[in-house]
Amino acid sequence: MKRISILVPCYNEEESIPYFYKELNRIEQLMKVDNGVEFEKIFVNDGSKDGTLNILKELSSSDSTVKYISFSRNFGKEAAIYAGLQNATGDYVVIMDADLQDPPALLPEMYHAIDSEGYDSVATRRVTRKGEPPIRSFFARMFYKIMNKISQTDLVDGARDYRLMNRKFVNALLQLEEYNRFSKGLFGWVGFKTKWIEFENVERIAGETKWSFYKLLIYAIEGIVAFSTMPLVIATVIGVICCVLALTGTGFIVLRKILFDDPVQGWASTVTLLLSIGGVQLLCAGILGQYIAKIYLEVKKRPIYIIAEKN
Ligand code: UDP
Ligand code: MG
Repeated sequence: MKRISILVPCYNEEESIPYFYKELNRIEQLMKVDNGVEFEKIFVNDGSKDGTLNILKELSSSDSTVKYISFSRNFGKEAAIYAGLQNATGDYVVIMDADLQDPPALLPEMYHAIDSEGYDSVATRRVTRKGEPPIRSFFARMFYKIMNKISQTDLVDGARDYRLMNRKFVNALLQLEEYNRFSKGLFGWVGFKTKWIEFENVERIAGETKWSFYKLLIYAIEGIVAFSTMPLVIATVIGVICCVLALTGTGFIVLRKILFDDPVQGWASTVTLLLSIGGVQLLCAGILGQYIAKIYLEVKKRPIYIIAEKN
């Protein structure tokens, strides 16, 4: 019997897990009969502050297919995904949110593609962003547009982390041991044959999103720094343009003095120039700083997560 590892990162999901578990079991029964597969459920408790861990313990005592891994604090969804991948033993692994925004009902279709159509992974994307604040949708779209222009890795707008992968694909992901993990980029980076399945956005069943606008912004910057060096190129180009302008300006002033003996006048232009060049310098130093900060975090070689307990 083939086994699918269901990997579920959970952060303060005590309200959603019961619904999720019920729906997952329904699909498990279906697929046992139709596809002859069994499930292994790996819940990663990412330092929840509510009763998530207790619920997971209860589930695991009544259901032997439930495994839980509990972090010592909140390490983020990316770390939870990595921990789950490392501990998954199935022939296939699928990552799923605990809030039913990644409908388990899509699994049979996904499994079919990977089992009989020769794909290595089956990814999902939502075609609508219904129920999301318009401002957030706007910035999300912008992010994907910019990212695809400046990075070599293909990022699909609306792509979820909901993805079914075969062993080959999972092992490739496990080889990427970087500290700053941006899964949406890593999935594309490893290559292989991926099929995309589209679905309408589903709102979360209970609880609320863990992503504030600020957290998303930081995540976006992380993605850009991890998958593109284009900002550095832009900084360099701005620097070159400023140098050329400065040289031309200097030449112009010197010539004017020699030819027409024009006294230098106007402090407004001087101050404006000073400020703008200072601004550009700070901006470029900031961009550079982003990359250096990431290097700093990588070379420290700290573990991506720390486990407090597991079963
Ligand atoms: N999550 C996590 N650690 C975090 C934030 C979120 O493990 O620090 C989990 C969360 O429990 C959920 C999934 O990641 O299962 C997606 O989170 P959420 O639903 O809040 O994000 P959204 O669907 O709104 O993008
Ligand atoms: Mg969600």
